[in-house]
Amino acid sequence: MSTPEYDLLIRQLKHLRLGRVSEVLDAHTQRAVAANMSYLDFLRGLIQEAAQAQDTRLINSRIKAAHFPYLKTLDQFDFNFQPTVSRQKVADLATLRFVENHENVILLGPPGVGKTHLAIALALKACEAGYKVLFTTLADLVAQLHAALADHSLAMRLKALRQVALLVIDEVGYVPLDKTGADHLFQVVARRYETGSIILTSNKAFTEWGNILGGDSVVASAILDRLLHHSMVFNIKGESYRLREKRDALVREEVTSR
Ligand code: ADP
Ligand code: MG
Repeated sequence: MSTPEYDLLIRQLKHLRLGRVSEVLDAHTQRAVAANMSYLDFLRGLIQEAAQAQDTRLINSRIKAAHFPYLKTLDQFDFNFQPTVSRQKVADLATLRFVENHENVILLGPPGVGKTHLAIALALKACEAGYKVLFTTLADLVAQLHAALADHSLAMRLKALRQVALLVIDEVGYVPLDKTGADHLFQVVARRYETGSIILTSNKAFTEWGNILGGDSVVASAILDRLLHHSMVFNIKGESYRLREKRDALVREEVTSR
Protein backbone atom coordinates (compact mmCIF):
# COMPACT_ATOMS: atom_id res chain seq x y z
CA MET A 1 0.00 0.00 0.00
CA SER A 2 1.21 3.52 -0.68
CA THR A 3 -0.83 6.67 -0.19
CA PRO A 4 0.46 9.93 1.26
CA GLU A 5 -1.48 9.19 4.49
CA TYR A 6 -0.03 5.69 4.75
CA ASP A 7 3.50 6.91 4.07
CA LEU A 8 3.10 9.59 6.74
CA LEU A 9 1.83 6.99 9.23
CA ILE A 10 4.86 4.77 8.57
CA ARG A 11 7.21 7.73 9.02
CA GLN A 12 5.51 8.69 12.29
CA LEU A 13 5.69 5.11 13.58
CA LYS A 14 9.41 5.07 12.87
CA HIS A 15 9.82 8.48 14.47
CA LEU A 16 8.18 7.08 17.62
CA ARG A 17 10.60 4.12 17.46
CA LEU A 18 7.74 1.80 16.53
CA GLY A 19 9.50 0.41 13.47
CA ARG A 20 8.30 -3.09 14.29
CA VAL A 21 4.66 -1.91 14.13
CA SER A 22 5.27 -0.42 10.70
CA GLU A 23 6.62 -3.79 9.54
CA VAL A 24 3.61 -5.79 10.68
CA LEU A 25 0.95 -3.18 10.03
CA ASP A 26 -0.19 -4.59 6.67
CA ALA A 27 -0.47 -8.16 7.92
CA HIS A 28 -2.33 -7.09 11.07
CA THR A 29 -4.69 -4.85 9.10
CA GLN A 30 -5.52 -7.63 6.65
CA ARG A 31 -6.11 -10.08 9.47
CA ALA A 32 -8.30 -7.59 11.34
CA VAL A 33 -10.47 -7.03 8.23
CA ALA A 34 -10.73 -10.74 7.45
CA ALA A 35 -11.62 -11.67 11.05
CA ASN A 36 -13.91 -8.71 11.56
CA MET A 37 -11.79 -7.85 14.59
CA SER A 38 -12.73 -5.21 17.16
CA TYR A 39 -10.69 -2.00 17.14
CA LEU A 40 -9.47 -2.87 20.59
CA ASP A 41 -8.18 -6.33 19.57
CA PHE A 42 -6.48 -4.84 16.53
CA LEU A 43 -4.74 -2.26 18.71
CA ARG A 44 -3.83 -4.90 21.31
CA GLY A 45 -2.09 -6.98 18.61
CA LEU A 46 -0.02 -4.02 17.44
CA ILE A 47 0.92 -2.91 20.96
CA GLN A 48 2.01 -6.45 21.80
CA GLU A 49 4.36 -6.42 18.78
CA ALA A 50 5.75 -3.06 19.89
CA ALA A 51 6.28 -4.29 23.48
CA GLN A 52 8.07 -7.45 22.31
CA ALA A 53 10.32 -5.45 20.01
CA GLN A 54 11.16 -3.11 22.88
CA ASP A 55 12.02 -6.08 25.15
CA THR A 56 14.31 -7.52 22.49
CA ARG A 57 16.01 -4.13 22.06
CA LEU A 58 16.62 -3.81 25.79
CA ILE A 59 17.98 -7.36 26.08
CA ASN A 60 20.34 -6.74 23.17
CA SER A 61 21.57 -3.50 24.68
CA ARG A 62 22.23 -5.24 28.03
CA ILE A 63 24.13 -8.01 26.20
CA LYS A 64 26.19 -5.39 24.38
CA ALA A 65 26.93 -3.50 27.61
CA ALA A 66 28.02 -6.76 29.29
CA HIS A 67 31.04 -7.03 26.93
CA PHE A 68 30.97 -10.80 26.57
CA PRO A 69 33.97 -12.12 24.59
CA TYR A 70 31.52 -14.45 22.79
CA LEU A 71 28.06 -15.85 23.46
CA LYS A 72 27.41 -19.33 24.84
CA THR A 73 24.17 -20.79 26.17
CA LEU A 74 23.34 -23.48 28.72
CA ASP A 75 21.69 -25.47 25.91
CA GLN A 76 25.10 -25.67 24.24
CA PHE A 77 26.71 -27.15 27.35
CA ASP A 78 27.13 -30.94 27.19
CA PHE A 79 26.57 -32.15 30.75
CA ASN A 80 27.33 -35.74 29.71
CA PHE A 81 30.86 -34.73 28.81
CA GLN A 82 31.28 -32.98 32.16
CA PRO A 83 29.83 -35.24 34.89
CA THR A 84 31.43 -33.20 37.72
CA VAL A 85 29.05 -30.33 36.87
CA SER A 86 25.65 -31.07 38.37
CA ARG A 87 22.87 -30.40 35.88
CA GLN A 88 20.45 -29.77 38.77
CA LYS A 89 22.71 -27.20 40.42
CA VAL A 90 23.17 -25.34 37.14
CA ALA A 91 19.41 -25.45 36.52
CA ASP A 92 18.96 -23.97 39.99
CA LEU A 93 21.42 -21.18 39.16
CA ALA A 94 19.56 -20.57 35.90
CA THR A 95 16.52 -19.46 37.93
CA LEU A 96 18.78 -16.49 38.87
CA ARG A 97 17.76 -16.59 42.52
CA PHE A 98 21.48 -16.22 43.28
CA VAL A 99 21.44 -12.82 41.55
CA GLU A 100 18.32 -11.77 43.42
CA ASN A 101 19.94 -12.88 46.71
CA HIS A 102 23.35 -11.28 45.95
CA GLU A 103 25.13 -14.63 46.11
CA ASN A 104 28.29 -15.67 44.28
CA VAL A 105 29.21 -18.55 42.01
CA ILE A 106 32.79 -19.83 41.93
CA LEU A 107 33.84 -22.07 39.06
CA LEU A 108 37.16 -23.81 39.68
CA GLY A 109 38.99 -26.22 37.39
CA PRO A 110 41.75 -26.75 34.85
CA PRO A 111 41.70 -25.09 31.39
CA GLY A 112 39.07 -26.14 28.87
CA VAL A 113 36.50 -27.68 31.23
CA GLY A 114 33.82 -25.09 30.47
CA LYS A 115 34.20 -22.49 33.24
CA THR A 116 33.96 -19.47 30.93
CA HIS A 117 31.19 -21.15 28.93
CA LEU A 118 29.05 -21.63 32.06
CA ALA A 119 29.82 -18.13 33.34
CA ILE A 120 28.76 -16.55 30.03
CA ALA A 121 25.66 -18.73 29.74
CA LEU A 122 24.42 -17.79 33.24
CA ALA A 123 25.27 -14.12 32.73
CA LEU A 124 23.40 -14.16 29.41
CA LYS A 125 20.33 -15.50 31.24
CA ALA A 126 20.66 -12.59 33.65
CA CYS A 127 20.75 -10.10 30.73
CA GLU A 128 17.61 -11.69 29.32
CA ALA A 129 15.90 -11.43 32.70
CA GLY A 130 16.62 -7.69 32.92
CA TYR A 131 19.73 -7.55 35.11
CA LYS A 132 22.70 -5.32 34.37
CA VAL A 133 25.76 -7.50 33.78
CA LEU A 134 29.45 -6.91 33.19
CA PHE A 135 31.96 -9.51 32.03
CA THR A 136 35.68 -8.96 32.54
CA THR A 137 38.82 -10.99 32.98
CA LEU A 138 40.68 -10.32 36.20
CA ALA A 139 43.67 -9.01 34.21
CA ASP A 140 41.45 -6.47 32.38
CA LEU A 141 39.67 -5.47 35.57
CA VAL A 142 42.90 -4.80 37.39
CA ALA A 143 44.44 -2.97 34.40
CA GLN A 144 41.36 -0.73 34.18
CA LEU A 145 41.43 0.06 37.88
CA HIS A 146 45.12 0.78 37.67
CA ALA A 147 44.51 3.23 34.83
CA ALA A 148 41.63 4.75 36.82
CA LEU A 149 43.96 5.24 39.77
CA ALA A 150 46.34 7.17 37.50
CA ASP A 151 43.66 9.52 36.13
CA HIS A 152 41.86 9.92 39.48
CA SER A 153 38.69 8.17 38.33
CA LEU A 154 39.09 5.16 40.65
CA ALA A 155 36.15 6.04 42.91
CA MET A 156 33.88 6.49 39.90
CA ARG A 157 35.03 3.24 38.33
CA LEU A 158 34.52 1.29 41.56
CA LYS A 159 31.05 2.78 41.87
CA ALA A 160 30.20 1.73 38.31
CA LEU A 161 31.38 -1.81 39.10
CA ARG A 162 29.08 -1.83 42.09
CA GLN A 163 26.08 -0.83 40.05
CA VAL A 164 25.83 -3.96 37.91
CA ALA A 165 23.68 -6.74 39.34
CA LEU A 166 26.08 -9.44 38.19
CA LEU A 167 29.83 -9.08 37.70
CA VAL A 168 31.71 -11.90 35.99
CA ILE A 169 35.42 -12.04 36.84
CA ASP A 170 37.01 -14.58 34.52
CA GLU A 171 40.48 -16.14 34.65
CA VAL A 172 41.55 -15.53 38.22
CA GLY A 173 44.99 -17.08 38.55
CA TYR A 174 46.34 -16.95 35.00
CA VAL A 175 48.17 -13.72 35.69
CA PRO A 176 49.43 -13.14 39.23
CA LEU A 177 48.53 -9.75 40.70
CA ASP A 178 50.86 -7.27 42.36
CA LYS A 179 49.96 -5.77 45.73
CA THR A 180 47.97 -2.87 44.19
CA GLY A 181 46.07 -5.27 41.94
CA ALA A 182 45.16 -7.48 44.90
CA ASP A 183 44.00 -4.41 46.86
CA HIS A 184 41.82 -3.34 43.94
CA LEU A 185 40.27 -6.79 43.69
CA PHE A 186 39.56 -6.63 47.40
CA GLN A 187 37.83 -3.25 46.93
CA VAL A 188 35.62 -4.67 44.20
CA VAL A 189 34.70 -7.80 46.16
CA ALA A 190 34.19 -5.97 49.47
CA ARG A 191 31.95 -3.33 47.91
CA ARG A 192 29.76 -5.95 46.27
CA TYR A 193 29.55 -8.10 49.40
CA GLU A 194 25.86 -8.79 50.11
CA THR A 195 24.85 -6.10 47.60
CA GLY A 196 25.58 -7.76 44.25
CA SER A 197 26.56 -11.09 42.69
CA ILE A 198 29.88 -12.24 41.31
CA ILE A 199 30.60 -15.22 39.09
CA LEU A 200 34.29 -15.93 39.32
CA THR A 201 36.34 -18.53 37.46
CA SER A 202 39.80 -19.77 38.39
CA ASN A 203 42.24 -22.49 37.44
CA LYS A 204 43.80 -22.29 40.91
CA ALA A 205 42.65 -23.93 44.14
CA PHE A 206 41.84 -21.57 47.01
CA THR A 207 45.03 -22.63 48.81
CA GLU A 208 47.06 -21.05 45.98
CA TRP A 209 45.25 -17.72 46.06
CA GLY A 210 47.76 -16.16 48.43
CA ASN A 211 50.42 -16.59 45.75
CA ILE A 212 48.37 -15.26 42.87
CA LEU A 213 46.92 -12.29 44.80
CA GLY A 214 49.99 -10.20 45.43
CA GLY A 215 51.72 -12.87 47.51
CA ASP A 216 49.66 -11.57 50.41
CA SER A 217 47.72 -14.20 52.28
CA VAL A 218 45.95 -11.58 54.43
CA VAL A 219 44.37 -9.86 51.41
CA ALA A 220 43.69 -13.25 49.79
CA SER A 221 41.85 -14.46 52.92
CA ALA A 222 39.90 -11.21 53.15
CA ILE A 223 38.82 -11.61 49.51
CA LEU A 224 37.95 -15.29 49.92
CA ASP A 225 36.09 -14.64 53.15
CA ARG A 226 33.67 -12.24 51.47
CA LEU A 227 33.40 -14.20 48.23
CA LEU A 228 32.63 -17.51 49.87
CA HIS A 229 30.25 -16.41 52.61
CA HIS A 230 27.19 -16.67 50.32
CA SER A 231 28.32 -18.76 47.41
CA MET A 232 28.07 -21.95 45.42
CA VAL A 233 31.41 -23.50 44.48
CA PHE A 234 31.87 -25.86 41.52
CA ASN A 235 35.01 -27.93 41.45
CA ILE A 236 35.13 -29.00 37.84
CA LYS A 237 37.46 -31.87 37.12
CA GLY A 238 38.32 -33.81 34.04
CA GLU A 239 39.34 -33.42 30.49
CA SER A 240 39.55 -30.28 28.37
CA TYR A 241 36.70 -30.06 25.88
CA ARG A 242 39.01 -28.31 23.39
CA LEU A 243 41.56 -31.14 23.59
CA ARG A 244 38.86 -33.75 23.16
CA GLU A 245 37.59 -32.00 20.03
CA LYS A 246 41.12 -31.74 18.69
CA ARG A 247 41.89 -35.37 19.47
CA ASP A 248 38.66 -36.55 17.83
CA ALA A 249 39.54 -34.54 14.72
CA LEU A 250 43.03 -36.08 14.61
CA VAL A 251 41.61 -39.59 15.01
CA ARG A 252 39.16 -38.94 12.15
CA GLU A 253 42.03 -37.71 9.96
CA GLU A 254 44.07 -40.79 10.77
CA VAL A 255 41.17 -43.14 9.98
CA THR A 256 40.43 -41.46 6.65
CA SER A 257 44.09 -41.41 5.57
CA ARG A 258 44.54 -45.12 6.19
P1 ADP B 1 37.62 -22.84 30.54
O1 ADP B 1 37.08 -21.48 30.75
O2 ADP B 1 37.30 -23.79 31.66
O3 ADP B 1 39.09 -22.85 30.20
P2 ADP B 1 35.89 -22.79 28.25
O4 ADP B 1 34.59 -22.51 28.87
O5 ADP B 1 36.57 -21.66 27.55
O6 ADP B 1 36.90 -23.47 29.28
O7 ADP B 1 35.72 -24.01 27.24
C1 ADP B 1 36.57 -24.21 26.13
C2 ADP B 1 35.74 -24.48 24.88
O8 ADP B 1 35.09 -25.74 25.02
C3 ADP B 1 34.63 -23.47 24.68
O9 ADP B 1 34.43 -23.29 23.30
C4 ADP B 1 33.42 -24.12 25.32
O10 ADP B 1 32.23 -23.70 24.72
C5 ADP B 1 33.68 -25.59 25.05
N1 ADP B 1 33.19 -26.46 26.12
C6 ADP B 1 33.81 -26.74 27.28
N2 ADP B 1 33.10 -27.62 28.01
C7 ADP B 1 32.00 -27.90 27.28
C8 ADP B 1 30.86 -28.77 27.48
N3 ADP B 1 30.75 -29.54 28.57
N4 ADP B 1 29.91 -28.79 26.50
C9 ADP B 1 30.04 -28.04 25.40
N5 ADP B 1 31.09 -27.21 25.15
C10 ADP B 1 32.05 -27.15 26.07
MG1 MG C 1 38.09 -19.68 30.58
